[in-house]
Amino acid sequence: MTTSDRTSGSTRRRRRLARRVGNFGETWSFVPARIEQPTTTDELVEIVRGARQLRVMGARHSWSRGIVTEDTLVSLDRMKRILHVDRERLRVRVQAGIRLRDLIGELDALGLALANLGSIDEQSLAGAVCTGTHGTGIGFRCLADQVEGLRLIDGRGDERAIERDDPDFPAVVVGLGAFGVVHEMTLAVVPRFQMHAITESCPFDEVIERLDAFVDGSDHFKFWWFVPNDDAVVFRQRRTDQPRNDSDLKRWFKDEFLGFAVYRAALAVQRLNRRRLVPLTNRILAGEYARRFERICKSHVAFLTPKPPVHRETEWAFDYADAKPLLRDYRKLLLDSGHAYSMPQEVRFTRGDALWASPAYGRDSIWLSMYNIDSEANWNDQLQLFETFARAHGGRPHWGKEATFDTDYLLESLPKLGDFFELIEAYDPDGRFANAWIRGLTDD
Ligand SMILES: Cc1cc2nc3c(=O)[nH]c(=O)nc-3n(C[C@H](O)[C@H](O)[C@H](O)COP(=O)(O)OP(=O)(O)OC[C@H]3O[C@@H](n4cnc5c(N)ncnc54)[C@H](O)[C@@H]3O)c2cc1C
Repeated sequence: MTTSDRTSGSTRRRRRLARRVGNFGETWSFVPARIEQPTTTDELVEIVRGARQLRVMGARHSWSRGIVTEDTLVSLDRMKRILHVDRERLRVRVQAGIRLRDLIGELDALGLALANLGSIDEQSLAGAVCTGTHGTGIGFRCLADQVEGLRLIDGRGDERAIERDDPDFPAVVVGLGAFGVVHEMTLAVVPRFQMHAITESCPFDEVIERLDAFVDGSDHFKFWWFVPNDDAVVFRQRRTDQPRNDSDLKRWFKDEFLGFAVYRAALAVQRLNRRRLVPLTNRILAGEYARRFERICKSHVAFLTPKPPVHRETEWAFDYADAKPLLRDYRKLLLDSGHAYSMPQEVRFTRGDALWASPAYGRDSIWLSMYNIDSEANWNDQLQLFETFARAHGGRPHWGKEATFDTDYLLESLPKLGDFFELIEAYDPDGRFANAWIRGLTDD
């Protein structure tokens, strides 16, 4: 009989043998001492109290090393139920391990929806919220803004309930997993709605000139840029009561065929000679994506894009007040870098918030990304160039993506971050949740 065979029934159910765990981006992997999958809050409390160090993994979609631990790795994949629906107040209480796609599906069946989403729905709810994951729309804040309250197990193994009016709330929501294991959230939801979505081409210069009109003229505006094209692919989306007119065939062609098959074929061709073929295939891809396309569809169909292939990614939030000169400099940065960029670069917009660690803290934001599939050496050079640019322009890095996360710079850039770090000590005095990534941020 092995050791695990001798453990109690519930322990056997939730404990997994240690195995190698890596992220979506395939940029790192590690072997934790144990992986736990609790099914109840009591089990979770027991696990936290028994661990020397502990981190939680969601869907492992972050490039940053938030889930890396040598000791206990917890998955809340078995704590993923909707617990209560309050239709009158439009509130839903849900276990925090639920994947966004399951949450969206279950809400849809109830005639409800999330007010805003990012580009994919693979993430766990807690994982997405606690890194400040965002979508686009200058009237909409990051996903964490939809949280009305949460429950977590802190570093002493005690349960805490934190509601929106709690003074700690603005720190704990986008909490990087440093305050505890979040196992339940109450979300503000909205009645299910449709989106009038238009995709088309527009010269990059014109996007800059008419930026305010684009951003204010849609509920959800974003654009893609296939470097080095003169044109951008603009996405304008308005919420509407009109009935859907998207057929399954149309959706298959746009999202599955074009979004997936054609794109992957282009990536395969690019590999033959990146420097020469990336600009060429980017021109072809941009032409296809930017062909005017209009539909009225379910909100989540408009928000989401097909899952991209494994790639590298950094994204920073900048002050929207600087958007126009910033976009000119950003374009110049990528054009002058001497590199080829296989993926479309994405530019999004969100409303400022009051969450202490949120990159959009205190300012309406424009988010500039750099996505690519390239050699390690090339990517490192691109990342360094981008980070230098981002810091010079007052950018703040996305917590779930690639960046250096320089503490001095972050403290300067995010005015409440010092208070955020101090409050972590009150929730986790012994540093149970302080893995190398968190320590790198908080150590003097
Ligand atoms: C293809 C792709 C597309 C993406 N699109 C977007 C986008 O549109 N917008 C955007 O802003 N970001 C986007 N991201 C980034 C992504 O949303 C974030 O990295 C998010 O944190 C990933 O969620 P996850 O469930 O995979 O969490 P993980 O990566 O597994 O974990 C992230 C962090 O959350 C912590 N955590 C997880 N669960 C808990 C819990 N229950 N309690 C406490 N801490 C917890 C972890 O310890 C870790 O620190 C994208 C990423 C990928 C790979």
